[in-house]
Amino acid sequence: PRTARLHLHQQPCPHSRIGGDLALEPKVPAAHRKTVGDQVSVIGLSGFGKDGPVARLFLAVWPPAAVLERLTALPRPDQPGVRWVPPENLHLTLRFLGDADPDAVDAHLAGAHLPAAEVTLGPVVSRLGRNVVVVPAAGLDELAHAVREATASIGRPPDPRPFAGHLTLARLKHRAACGVAGTPFHATFSVTGVALVESLPTGHGVGYTTLGRYVVGRVPGTP
Ligand code: ATP
Ligand code: MG
Repeated sequence: PRTARLHLHQQPCPHSRIGGDLALEPKVPAAHRKTVGDQVSVIGLSGFGKDGPVARLFLAVWPPAAVLERLTALPRPDQPGVRWVPPENLHLTLRFLGDADPDAVDAHLAGAHLPAAEVTLGPVVSRLGRNVVVVPAAGLDELAHAVREATASIGRPPDPRPFAGHLTLARLKHRAACGVAGTPFHATFSVTGVALVESLPTGHGVGYTTLGRYVVGRVPGTP
């Protein structure tokens, strides 16, 4: 199949609604229901909008393991006002959807043509605006455009600003210095898929869960 929904939560999320609230149950798609005995949990959903369940969602590319290893080997000096992105959260956002129904996103992306992409990261760790430390990413413009077109009617309206591919390494408070901007970094990789990712607060940051994955480089109608 073109898409594979991967539901990775083994336990109900701390923020999910837990309990046998049968009034809610019919609105919750089966993919998000977990039944243990007579307990019905809603897995990984932030809440319920007027049209049904919603989660905080974005569409992203996960870097391959070899690239991730090199990214996490970059210096991460522990400095006041610098919040380093944990290694497991490092990603390249193609589109931020905000609160949306994962099934609606899935339905739109499953039939979309998503072009193949070759990413070049680098050449140096840089600032994006004042407060974000990134590795710039080239090669994602067409894929980001396709994702944006396919999901334009879902979640937040697409950002009108031109797409600026990047991988966020750290966020800075009060324009803190972080000491790594300017560090050379170069890597290339082929994108194998676009991930539909849910973001949930964990108490010490955010945790990301991949809810779906969409293969790139296939022409619609072909296997
Ligand atoms: P935190 O908010 O705790 O700093 P985070 O930004 O990684 O963590 P989210 O706010 O859930 O977590 O964002 C998930 C992804 O979507 C990140 O790549 C983030 O940069 C991007 N994003 C979040 N809000 C927006 C927005 N308003 N416009 C564009 N991209 C956004
Ligand atoms: Mg954020």
